[in-house]
Amino acid sequence: MAYSALPATEAFMPVCYRNLAFAPSERRYSDRSSLLKLCLNLLPTCGPCPVRARCIYQVRPRPSKFDGVAGGRIWFGGDVIATVDGADDRELPLPLNARDICGTSRGIDEHYTRGERYCDDCRALKNSGTEPVQLQLTASTLTTEG
Ligand code: SF4
Ligand SMILES: [Zn+2]
Repeated sequence: MAYSALPATEAFMPVCYRNLAFAPSERRYSDRSSLLKLCLNLLPTCGPCPVRARCIYQVRPRPSKFDGVAGGRIWFGGDVIATVDGADDRELPLPLNARDICGTSRGIDEHYTRGERYCDDCRALKNSGTEPVQLQLTASTLTTEG
């Protein structure tokens, strides 16, 4: 699928401009890992790019089920499968709605895969660097007395 991430000004031209390798032909990959292999060497191009957020806004990779490189991420079927070093999730759109898994590591993973910003609960967990304590069912808790 062809796309163009238009330059922000007449003076600025992203390195990827008109480079169709950023949205490769479906003939060149067959699955997630072959697309990843195809695009991984292009991803660092987005590292210093000052228009990552604008690029994501224009390409709309999630709703358009985009395959390729846009906004510092590699997307496959609209899912994020790799992110360039130094990218910030605030470049991404807000989540559409809260989920029951928010505030857990699964919630963090879901935001990442969907290419959306972390909600407050997930961001707090991510910044704390700790996982919430999970209640473990052990033999003693399963044993009933009497
Ligand atoms: S973020 Fe990446 S794909 Fe988007 S314009 Fe910049 S270099 Fe191109
Ligand atoms: Zn969340």
